[in-house]
Amino acid sequence: MKILSNPKELLTSLKELKGSIGFVPTMGALHQGHLSLIKKSVMENDHTIVSIFVNPTQFLPNEDLSTYPRRLEADIKLCSLAKVSLLFTPSYEDLYFEDEVTLCAPSKLGYVLEGFSRPSHFDGVLRVIMKLFNLVKPTRAYFGKKDAQQLKIVEKMVNDLFLNIEIIPCEIIRDEEGLALSSRNAYLSNEEKKDALKISKALELASKEVVKGNKDIKKIEELMGKTLAPLKVEYAKVLRRDFTALNELEIGNSIILICAHVGSTRLIDNIWI
Ligand code: AMP
Repeated sequence: MKILSNPKELLTSLKELKGSIGFVPTMGALHQGHLSLIKKSVMENDHTIVSIFVNPTQFLPNEDLSTYPRRLEADIKLCSLAKVSLLFTPSYEDLYFEDEVTLCAPSKLGYVLEGFSRPSHFDGVLRVIMKLFNLVKPTRAYFGKKDAQQLKIVEKMVNDLFLNIEIIPCEIIRDEEGLALSSRNAYLSNEEKKDALKISKALELASKEVVKGNKDIKKIEELMGKTLAPLKVEYAKVLRRDFTALNELEIGNSIILICAHVGSTRLIDNIWI
């Protein structure tokens, strides 16, 4: 496995590659969730490129940029074992320029839910993803449904800017108790991990209601609110998969999303109905 951090070296090295390229952009501290994307890419492409970059432009000033878990040595081992062809680990200076051209997230989709709590977050996500797409020029790029809104916005960027890249949505990987894997789970104490399980529990109860035939969104949202108490809940919502409001749950076209704080850790999870 090649490891490069310089964009020019990456471009030179990619000239030698023949065949399809699968790309998995990450912020590192890799876990089985990331590895499921990597494995899928390795299976479906001639070459897999993984990037590890904790992107400062997608963090708000009060967020956890400085404490975000960084475990490069372990990540390198995991990528190498997973048969990644090339690991790209740029620095901020490698990727960003003074007074540069930027991208803006869509003014509706980019400013609800995650974008409401984290205004400009998706601007930063699109900026870095576009740079990485232009460098890697992937045939396919793999994104987790865990970050459902990010996935939707990246799909929209590919569509709106006529990019020739296939976006592959990947299922959410959970631990044996149901907690969605996340690099930020490293912040949780054992006690907090128990509290965090309320999130997947609330999603499970909501989907059971749907199976029973309940299509009343208010009732489902209330039930989730009760299950999540006493966590600080930012949102627990049933929406259409394009993130617009629904009058009644539509099976096959709905998504149930939760963002809740466990101690000082902000966690997100969702289920596609
Ligand atoms: P991150 O390193 O958090 O930026 O995540 C990199 C990619 O891994 C994103 O496409 C995430 O949606 C995906 N991802 C993170 N956690 C999970 C998970 N538990 N299951 C599936 N995909 C995930």
